[in-house]
Amino acid sequence: MKYYSTNHTAPLASLEEAVVKGLAGDRGLYMPENIKPLPKEFFDNIDKMSFQEIAYAVADSFFGEDVDAESLKRIVYDTLAFDCPVVPVSENIYTLELFHGPTLAFKDVGARFMARLLQYFIKKENKGGLVNVLVATSGDTGSAVANGFLGVDGIHVYVLYPKGKVSPIQECQFTTLGKNITAIEVDGVFDDCQALVKSAFMDEELNKHMRLTSANSINVARFLPQAFYYFYAYAQLKKLGKADNMVMCVPSGNFGNICAALFGHQMGLPIKRFVAANNANDIFFKYLQTGKYEPQPSKATLANAMDVGDPSNFARIYELYQGDHAVITSLISGATFSDEQIADTMRECYKDTKYVLDPHGACGYQALKNLLLAGEVGVFCETAHPAKFKEKVDAILSADIEIPQRLQKFMKGTKQSVEMTKRFDDFKTFLLKE
Ligand SMILES: *Cc1c(COP(=O)(O)O)cnc(C)c1O
Repeated sequence: MKYYSTNHTAPLASLEEAVVKGLAGDRGLYMPENIKPLPKEFFDNIDKMSFQEIAYAVADSFFGEDVDAESLKRIVYDTLAFDCPVVPVSENIYTLELFHGPTLAFKDVGARFMARLLQYFIKKENKGGLVNVLVATSGDTGSAVANGFLGVDGIHVYVLYPKGKVSPIQECQFTTLGKNITAIEVDGVFDDCQALVKSAFMDEELNKHMRLTSANSINVARFLPQAFYYFYAYAQLKKLGKADNMVMCVPSGNFGNICAALFGHQMGLPIKRFVAANNANDIFFKYLQTGKYEPQPSKATLANAMDVGDPSNFARIYELYQGDHAVITSLISGATFSDEQIADTMRECYKDTKYVLDPHGACGYQALKNLLLAGEVGVFCETAHPAKFKEKVDAILSADIEIPQRLQKFMKGTKQSVEMTKRFDDFKTFLLKE
């Protein structure tokens, strides 16, 4: 399979090139040249298949031409060493819990898959030398990527994050690891971190000095595997006899997660419609209303992993539907919530159902509450475990929620990070010395 750029000027790339380069030479995002629908029998039998079996069928459709069957199967099965269960919350509203991985957020799936695929390519090439992964994070990407790659030979990871803008629990998950992981604390916001990473890929001198790759949600090896759990969510609802009018709601920031769901839809996944739930960063919501995409500086909110003012994957969604606003709005609805509304939702849901939402999932839950029509069954992603935002969640709910053990482990480590300004020259000088 070849991959083309959303800007349409860079040459076609192989899967390996697309994964290693991350961003295309014309600054566009890579898209698979075709999206193969899965056969009817697959959907007929999906409720009798395991998560791994379903995921392998989806993976084969994207990556089967480029990765031998045995290796691909191993990568998929290793990646999905944890479950993504669909759990009932209130009448006709279910949650797809994506926080059962090592760093308690959905990004574990894509990050683990990418680490294994990159290692597969490095081994196959046998060129030696180091591959450097640069990743900008608004909170959860950094931990998922760092942990996905921790101790993987031949790969060094640089995590760039906005100083003071991620929760202490998020921070410790990528600043305490050491080994092949370097945390860089940028005096700026998430968009500054993302800009530094993008500029680094475009810098000729830097690229001569070191081999760079991205692990942000723009990387095809990270975002496509996220489709796996949407198929699995459908399978679980089908088992319950509830899948006929399924609405999938995704709390969205950089729009990688929902974009993977839309790719699933293109492959024939029978989801009726989608909802993109936003916090106060409502660029996509406004696009749906006006047809105009107008990036804004990101605003800090309670749901901080969704504080994105210029969502990269918008370009992929636009490309998927040839920019047809009518088609996009017929398939995807939007919602936007203030911090106050998020907190209200968390309290109400806790009171009514005992379910503890995290601030991101709360946007998803409330969007379904507001938008679900009669006869529809809604599923929203719980994109992270509420304990990742324990201080905020406890204060909002007046509760003392439990911290899972795998999270406690990180909190015992010592923070190590490199301070950085948001100027590209400073970042470049630092990398040139590495
Ligand atoms: C990253 C993240 C999101 C946003 O996902 P995108 O793919 O960037 O839209 C939502 N919730 C949590 C907890 C996240 O970590």
